Amino acid sequence: MLVARDTQISAEEGSSEQVSIWKHVYSVMRCPGAPCELGPHCWRDPFGKKHYKLGTHHLRSLIKYVEQGGELDTHDDVPHDLRESLYREEQQRLDRKSISNQSAVTTSCPPINITNVLPSQSPTRSPSLSTQDAPVRDSGYLNIPGLRDVAVEEYSDWQQSQVRNEALKAEFRKARDAAFSEGLDLGQIFKDQDSAFFIKQGVKRGIARRFVTDIDYWVKQYQPVRRNPARLSHPDSST
Ligand SMILES: [Zn+2]
Repeated sequence: MLVARDTQISAEEGSSEQVSIWKHVYSVMRCPGAPCELGPHCWRDPFGKKHYKLGTHHLRSLIKYVEQGGELDTHDDVPHDLRESLYREEQQRLDRKSISNQSAVTTSCPPINITNVLPSQSPTRSPSLSTQDAPVRDSGYLNIPGLRDVAVEEYSDWQQSQVRNEALKAEFRKARDAAFSEGLDLGQIFKDQDSAFFIKQGVKRGIARRFVTDIDYWVKQYQPVRRNPARLSHPDSST
């Protein structure tokens, strides 16, 4: 009797199915390691392998996604709109951090005793670019926060600003369009260092080489500018 009643309730409310979806989502989205301090639930970006902390509301939206028939078996299955909001939240967090870095020395990371560090051992540490804000390069990946297609666009704009000749500027736009047409982002282009691809697409040799080699320099130099909230506050101006 009791079993029959329970079955009936769960059939009516769909509760057992909901519980199993809930369990499934929580187990798929458990931090895949190497253990990070964000966990217990993370989304690991298939590109760049960066971890994004998942809060209850993120997990709830994933549960809803599965309930509506979405498939979620690996981190690669995380739907586009959730990825976008995770990127956006991360960008906002970085914006806040860079603002607090400008006003005061941050204490959220282990203090680095500069006097004990020989300059030759840490050439990347400079007052203008703290280790926290440095783009994370981990096993050959260049981690570029923000929307990846926007980064390609901005990078191409910057390359064009480095030359005066209109024909050369056009070559950089050609390289940008070639990247878009193959869905390549800056992290991938930098990792591949495949200037031959761009040359094959009709980009002049020198420009193709510039386009693949300057990415990490640009990320380091121009990231703080890209994170400036003042520039992000006019999304309509991009059209
Ligand atoms: Zn994690």
